[in-house]
Amino acid sequence: MKQIPKRAAVPTALTWDLTTIYPDDAAFQTALTTVKTQADQVAQLKGHLAKSGADLYQVTTAYLDLNRQLERLYVYASLKNDQDTGNADAQALMGQAESLVATVSAAVSWFEPEVLALDADALQQLIDAEPKLAAYQHLFDVLGKRRAHTLSATEEKLLAGASDIFAASSKTYSVLSDADLKFPVVQDEQGNDVRLSEGLYGVLLESTTPAVREQAFKALYSVYQQFRHTFASTLASEVKTHNFNAQIRHYDSARDAAMSANNVPAVVYDTLVRTVNDHLDSLHQYVNLRKEILGLPELHMYDLYTPITGEPSLRYTYEDAQQEALKALNVLGPDYVANVQKMFDGRAIDVVENQGKRTGAYSGGMYDTKPYILLNWQDSLESLFTLVHEMGHSMHSHYTRTNQPYQYGDYSIFVAEIASTTNENLLTDYLLKTQTDPKVRAYVLNHYLDGFKGTVYRQTQFAEFEDYIHQQAAGGQTLTADFMSKFYGDLNHRYYGDGVISDPQIADEWTRIPHFYYNYYVYQYATGFAAATTLSQRILSGDPAKRDAYLTYLKSGSSALPLDVMKRAGVDMTQPDYLQTAFKTFDDRLAEFSQLARDLKK
Ligand SMILES: [Zn+2]
Repeated sequence: MKQIPKRAAVPTALTWDLTTIYPDDAAFQTALTTVKTQADQVAQLKGHLAKSGADLYQVTTAYLDLNRQLERLYVYASLKNDQDTGNADAQALMGQAESLVATVSAAVSWFEPEVLALDADALQQLIDAEPKLAAYQHLFDVLGKRRAHTLSATEEKLLAGASDIFAASSKTYSVLSDADLKFPVVQDEQGNDVRLSEGLYGVLLESTTPAVREQAFKALYSVYQQFRHTFASTLASEVKTHNFNAQIRHYDSARDAAMSANNVPAVVYDTLVRTVNDHLDSLHQYVNLRKEILGLPELHMYDLYTPITGEPSLRYTYEDAQQEALKALNVLGPDYVANVQKMFDGRAIDVVENQGKRTGAYSGGMYDTKPYILLNWQDSLESLFTLVHEMGHSMHSHYTRTNQPYQYGDYSIFVAEIASTTNENLLTDYLLKTQTDPKVRAYVLNHYLDGFKGTVYRQTQFAEFEDYIHQQAAGGQTLTADFMSKFYGDLNHRYYGDGVISDPQIADEWTRIPHFYYNYYVYQYATGFAAATTLSQRILSGDPAKRDAYLTYLKSGSSALPLDVMKRAGVDMTQPDYLQTAFKTFDDRLAEFSQLARDLKK
């Protein structure tokens, strides 16, 4: 067993340097005091912004600057806390940062309502009266879109007061599934008795022993099925909340409300669902190939996650991985590569696992700091994929922050995963060009195909279900467990095809998917993955104009609407073309993988 070191034992070179945010905790405390005073001052500005263009400018910049200083404090505290969550000092900083968030939001809660209380013409007159406000035009335009959906001050106050009540069904869902559900004891691969959990379920489904997978699947669903009427009740109430909010705010539908909040038009969603449905054959083929490779007489839903290629013999130390990442990302040009190198050299990455460190990986930081990456490095190909993924986010942040003013220095969720997934695609392509061992190639190809299955197909399946139940509820249908399971079971069969046994349990899968409480969130995983596939092809075409278009997207931040930003990159997400290109890649890679897998079996 590898010993996980204590934080203090990790070599400094492998830790991130947070002193560029604040030299020490004392400086954090000084800044915190300043921001509290600043919050009081901004609170005093209430009622002033409509007096003149100069006032609007002063209030807006004071409001934004307060948020900016708050973010800096928050980032410092959260990075420090994540590097060692057991550290009491870091916990205290985090607690201070969190209470400051509450203080600041209370101090500025009037800002947006006050802007929206102005009619569009009055607001524009103020903007036109102060030349310095031109740099904020898009910010006000985006905010202004909410005007028609904002209610009277009294109504808004009532709704805000009831926000906890509106969140009740989703909270009940979390408590029930995370705390109260008790799963039975099952056997793991070695025959040991283990208490099943959602986390362990994922591990057991990847077991190479069919009986282990089957037992885990049946045991897990036996518990969910006992509570399916309760889960139907929480989900139905959540859907009603979305529909109710959409209706009182004068949106056409819950979907319209949710997508408008991200400034993404409905056509993106419909195009996705339609195009994915046109390409379900490819998923059926992949699933059938899985059955063939596994050599199973029948393929069940619980056989969809077990690996069909062996673990790759490829091992990367962190140093090797840095070199590979640089080579894979070389197609993005010398400036991009130089900035990646800077991340490596500048202690921007917290590399190794230590006791108490937050698990997983992410890219963080804010406008005034460098981008930071948290990793829990393992010497594996998976870790290399994680490194280039997070580097994609960090470079997106870097280019946005160095090319946009603070007010546009962030980017929306809709475009965020595209930068990271594009890098993963570039790595896939690089590995396929440089690795000749058929086993490694098979692994890399399947890594892509599996990602595509889980992201493009599975998330679109979720999106279809989510939209269906919202529409049905809006039309007066009661969302009972049986009603939802009937649709879900049919939908699942349509997606995976006749090659998979539709185990009856799978019709109840909706009971355990937390994303159905996220209000039209999942479709973005699918659109993002597909767009990234298409963008990486464009970058790899060798046409410098296409590469530059991609870099323009990275530099755009939130200075334009998400779809306009993607258009600059060369992808029109209202049209099916970008999806068709992605499916073509899936089909090509599936064909190569089928051949390799069959050859390897001989
Ligand atoms: Zn990501």
